[in-house]
Amino acid sequence: MTVSLGLPVVPRRDGGGADAGASAPPRPSDAPGLLDRFGRTATDLRVSLTESCNLRCTYCMPAEGLPALPRDQALTADEIVRLVDVGVRLLGVRQVRFTGGEPLLRRDLVEIVGRVAALEPRPEVSLTTNAIGLAERAGSLAAAGVDRVNVSLDSLHAATFTRVTRRPFLERVLAGVDAAAAAGLTPVKVNAVLLPGVNDHEAPDLLAWALRNGHELRFIEQMPLGADRDWTRESFVTAADVRRLLVERFDLRPVDEPRDGAPAELFAATGRGPDAGLDGRVGIIASVTEPFCADCRRTRLTAEGSVRSCLFSHAETGLRDPLRAGAGDDELADLWRAAMWAKPAGHGIDDPGFAQPTRTMSAIGG
Ligand code: SAM
Repeated sequence: MTVSLGLPVVPRRDGGGADAGASAPPRPSDAPGLLDRFGRTATDLRVSLTESCNLRCTYCMPAEGLPALPRDQALTADEIVRLVDVGVRLLGVRQVRFTGGEPLLRRDLVEIVGRVAALEPRPEVSLTTNAIGLAERAGSLAAAGVDRVNVSLDSLHAATFTRVTRRPFLERVLAGVDAAAAAGLTPVKVNAVLLPGVNDHEAPDLLAWALRNGHELRFIEQMPLGADRDWTRESFVTAADVRRLLVERFDLRPVDEPRDGAPAELFAATGRGPDAGLDGRVGIIASVTEPFCADCRRTRLTAEGSVRSCLFSHAETGLRDPLRAGAGDDELADLWRAAMWAKPAGHGIDDPGFAQPTRTMSAIGG
């Protein structure tokens, strides 16, 4: 049983803390799917296709980038499809989202998408991307089976975009968003992270732009997953801040629909004054201040083929080496199930002993 927000209510037997799985009760051997000891079942798989990225967002990546993953350590297209197939066929995965790093940097992305979209039962296939290069590939990705895209865009001003991402590519991102919409990948979801004193004042402009163009905007609270490790409770823009910024120009009404595991709290937004006539939805993902861990349905696969049960895990379970050593599908499925059984109750950001994971967001797969 779970509650709708916060932490699962199943009593802890191990004292809590991320990855406190050693003394967890044994997993029922007949439990199907990716069940954890708090009663949650993961059906939503995030697959990181690469740790590399062509942006260097300050809250995500170090300025110098990450050391390239040695070629033989990254999963091949065949290995990715094999593991996703295990997830879909044996473990109840229903949604597959490709992310990274930047998934468009994989030359074999269209092939991987096509092969995953052909799996049975067909999973929903989506992409989280910075959209650089999407202008050239949106059509082929849609044809291969991408159902939805989320594009990350934190500013509509070239100078601010460059300051946040350390790269001058705003026009290419906007062209990618247009191409995704033209390819029918609608509504394009746009993810924005606000940074105090940098782009937070742009919140209403971003919303007006999204509504005018038929995109669905989501603001994501910044989480302690950056390379600089300078995140503090005082240094990020909260969901409450976002709401305050938006109501200066929009009326917001909570959308009365079940969240159904979705991380975003949705609001119906109606513009006033110069924004009159703008109408639509906006989401706010309050991962830090209003965590939704109790309803988390995610499982993650890193570019190296390790399962992470939570963004904030310190533990991972490698599937690549067993796969390369000849493990069968059932064996891989068992390893994956065991990894998810140990999923922590919550991200633990508020715990006194919270420690940021070694991997940054770009090396986990956001
Ligand atoms: N390169 C792709 C992109 O830009 O969307 C996919 C990877 S990126 C890590 C995925 C998402 O994670 C982006 O929307 C990004 O804004 C978000 N992200 C990265 N670091 C974050 C952090 N510290 N807190 C919250 N969101 C973060």
